[in-house]
Amino acid sequence: MPQHREPTSRLQTSGQVDPSINTRVEAFATHAKLNSVAKGLRTRRGEILRRWLEAARAQPFHAGQPERAVSDHIPNMFDAMLAFLERSAPSSIDPGPPLDDAAVRHAARSHARDRFRQGLTAADVLSEFRLLRQEIGRALREETDARTVADVLGAELLVQDALDGAATLALAALEAHEAEHRRVSAELAAIVDSSLDAIISKTLDGVITSWNPAAQRLYGYTAEEAIGRNVAFLASQDRPDEIPALLERLRRGERVEPYDTVRIRKDGSPIEVSLTVSPMRDSAGNLIGASAIARDISQRKVAEREREAVLAVVAHDLRSPLTAIKGNADLLQRQAAGGAIPSERIAERAASISTSVATMTMQIDELLDAARLRAGESLELVRRPTDLVDIAYRLAADVQETTTRHTIDVRPLESELVGEWDAMRIERVLGNLLGNAIKYSPDGGDISVEIRRAVREGQPCASLAVRDQGVGIPSRDLERIFEHYQRASNVVGRFPGEGIGLAGAKHVIEQHGGAITVESQEGQGSTFTVWLPLTAAGR
Ligand code: ADP
Repeated sequence: MPQHREPTSRLQTSGQVDPSINTRVEAFATHAKLNSVAKGLRTRRGEILRRWLEAARAQPFHAGQPERAVSDHIPNMFDAMLAFLERSAPSSIDPGPPLDDAAVRHAARSHARDRFRQGLTAADVLSEFRLLRQEIGRALREETDARTVADVLGAELLVQDALDGAATLALAALEAHEAEHRRVSAELAAIVDSSLDAIISKTLDGVITSWNPAAQRLYGYTAEEAIGRNVAFLASQDRPDEIPALLERLRRGERVEPYDTVRIRKDGSPIEVSLTVSPMRDSAGNLIGASAIARDISQRKVAEREREAVLAVVAHDLRSPLTAIKGNADLLQRQAAGGAIPSERIAERAASISTSVATMTMQIDELLDAARLRAGESLELVRRPTDLVDIAYRLAADVQETTTRHTIDVRPLESELVGEWDAMRIERVLGNLLGNAIKYSPDGGDISVEIRRAVREGQPCASLAVRDQGVGIPSRDLERIFEHYQRASNVVGRFPGEGIGLAGAKHVIEQHGGAITVESQEGQGSTFTVWLPLTAAGR
């Protein structure tokens, strides 16, 4: 049952309606015989709606797409208004403001929302409501001869009142829609601005329409320089077909999944990027352009290439002891075929095989440790009393056998220096330091190993320094050389290496609670110093 409400409740959305308006409309409508008018309108329902649709289709805002003029909500609104008129029909009942009717309100609001989503403006939506009013008015006037003028006028006033209210609701819906739109746009803009990836939008012909700060960082062009140009200027000349093919796919509405490619920066340098391109559509689903996201993958590519290079070196390094083992085994086989082999020969070859196996085992252990450390695992140290002086003498003797141009001089300040260390791993660290000292002193020279007791951070420890007179390390690279796969700029391409020895050494020493440092002058030589606490106390 429609009830009389406070007039001001009618247009709460605008909040600025003169309450006397309702009173006047109701005064006209109260005594009208709305039922017979409503019946007339119901008979002509199909005709009114059809005429409305024709008129709406002819409006400039539907011109491109007349099929979009069809609306679910206008018929709903019409029906809700009829139902309202019918309910208000008995003249004893006060008709009340039509906009208090939930169905009318709902239909008006939904229609406005749909239309805004289609891209229509408030003025366009108001025009559509006006057209409906005109069509209903026309139908009512055509009914006049059958009914009293007062009844028709009363009904028309109510219909007009409802449509005015609907227009106000539509404006409120637009306001809410635009506020939401502004909020989403602002959030989107903030995301795009703060993105680490370059985000670019362009037309379907490839003309750039937006360019975020990351795009400027990646390619070197400012937004002013880039917007308005065709993306083709970023393409590499080696791939002339790439952009046309991309645009072709976008025009077909296809999304281009991430792929690796090369773009050219403002300074002319190439940059490797991973590119994802997606078509953009308007709210009606029409293709309007494309967005491209480019991620700088140059670091990843460098790392991939480094890893491949390391793999090649590792494979090569592991082959050397294997070749020696095979050589010795073949020799023994041949000699055995020729008759008995003197036992000292057998012993000699077996010792050589054993040395090769030990070298290879050490290399494999080192690789395993490197893999564990990269996986974030710590090493399980096997600590036992170990004499650093003894290790230094033994290793120095082994390494000395591999070179005649270097002189390795072990200078211990103690006859023995025993600590609780993982002997195998400490040997590997010292082997690495000595190996590097030889490798990076291509002209030969003296290499000294100094061992002494020291105190570091209040803890008694052993210090061992390996000093060479080799190529040295550029000061800008000093920090880096303890990181995985990092090699100084003065050795890359000149000396073989994989850049894992020092990274492993640093982990081993730090896990013992110690430290490793380097001092070096390029062209003069380097000194690597290892500090090892004597015990694992406090760890
Ligand atoms: P690799 O020797 O296989 O490259 P390392 O991890 O052992 O790997 O060493 C890392 C880098 O540190 C080397 O590539 C080199 O640039 C530098 N380096 C290490 N030891 C020396 C040294 N004794 N003299 C000069 N440079 C060195």
